[in-house]
Amino acid sequence: MSHVFPRHCHKTLPTASGGDGCYLIDSTGKRYLDGSGGAAVSCLGHSDPQVLDAIRDQLDRVAFAHTGFFTSDPAESLADLLIANAPGDLDRVYLVSGGSEATEAAIKLARQYWVEKGEPERKHLIARKQSYHGNTIGALSAGGNEWRRKQFGPLLLEMSHIDPCYAYRNQRGGESAETYGVRAADALETEILRLGPETVMAFIAEPVVGATAGAVPAAPGYFKRIREICDRHGVLLILDEVMCGMGRTGTLFACEQDGVAPDIACIAKGLGAGYQPIGAMLCTSAIYEAISQGSGFFQHGHTYMGHPVAAAAGHAVLSAILERDLLARVQTQGALLDRRLREVLGPHPHVGDIRGRGLFRGVELVSDRESKAPFDPARGLAAKIKSAAFEAGLICYPMSGTIDGRQGDHILLAPPFIISDAQIDELVGILSGAIETAL
Ligand code: PLP
Repeated sequence: MSHVFPRHCHKTLPTASGGDGCYLIDSTGKRYLDGSGGAAVSCLGHSDPQVLDAIRDQLDRVAFAHTGFFTSDPAESLADLLIANAPGDLDRVYLVSGGSEATEAAIKLARQYWVEKGEPERKHLIARKQSYHGNTIGALSAGGNEWRRKQFGPLLLEMSHIDPCYAYRNQRGGESAETYGVRAADALETEILRLGPETVMAFIAEPVVGATAGAVPAAPGYFKRIREICDRHGVLLILDEVMCGMGRTGTLFACEQDGVAPDIACIAKGLGAGYQPIGAMLCTSAIYEAISQGSGFFQHGHTYMGHPVAAAAGHAVLSAILERDLLARVQTQGALLDRRLREVLGPHPHVGDIRGRGLFRGVELVSDRESKAPFDPARGLAAKIKSAAFEAGLICYPMSGTIDGRQGDHILLAPPFIISDAQIDELVGILSGAIETAL
């Protein structure tokens, strides 16, 4: 009998015993094409020698030194490389162990910033309905994923959730994408005015919505308008790039394609690429200076923050992405994945939408294409597709519809940046068969 407390109490899982590029291998020797990077983590595939060497090398020097006493070479080098490639005025890097820790730190930093600035009445965080920011209490409170929040309602912090930017369902007939983008963004200003601008500390959003929605990018102009609204009311903009960042969409930060830069950014997943647990919160020098010249101490911290081995892995991953020109590869392979999905699944009567950017793609399934009516979530279609695909040797990331029942089942795809043309065909072929099996 196993003593592991698993995610699912009643599932017997195969044992992962090996990794080979885009494939995971179980203890029976069965190979699985990693079509979602579990989710959006394994951007370099599963056996990258450069990252493995960097980890070994750091372990030979020192494994751990508490950040209350020491900094470390890998933490310094990773922060330098991130900032050299980060958008806007992002200037400081706070290294943590994953995505929830990064968003939790971002929420607390936004609050402390306003306290230090002498505006303690700024306490409201505005988020969006179609979102996921992590599973710790603060991050879960910010997220709009009803399924994940359901049981914990009484424990969650009060936060506003405005409608997401979700063109497939919310763009009106006859409305241009740009007009819709501005209309969707204006929901933020309405909420800021309702709460009172002097009480709002920050707005948090994913530039491309991942787990809750299936790779939904914002409409053109949406984030530019969001930035204007935040600036008009002095509200901090936190962009959660935990899933869509680190090159996943074809630029290092997804927000670069929206032409905006945040005050605070969160990254994780692809930063460690699965080789080490690591995340980061980046903030502008203005925010850092407010803390530095105020109390001089960010009232936060975790034992494993700035872990030298994790930082060494993060530095090796980021170096690999930049030195091997993988951002360009994400763009070409992402375009190919999009094309194949449209060719093979586009005509399917139950495929409502195919969307995304780079190697971050989503397929939304509906019971009726005309009305866009979702399948009954109780049918668990997405989970059935996941099982059928897994049986056939493909890992993909499913989610059944949420946001007030106005969203279909979707499948999220986020394969390694090194995926080949033939592997893209393999992925789309298995997915198509799994959809048929599950229906
Ligand atoms: N933010 C986003 C956008 C995510 O997709 C996730 C995880 O899926 C998180 C935060 C939480 O990250 P973690 O699971 O590493 O805590």
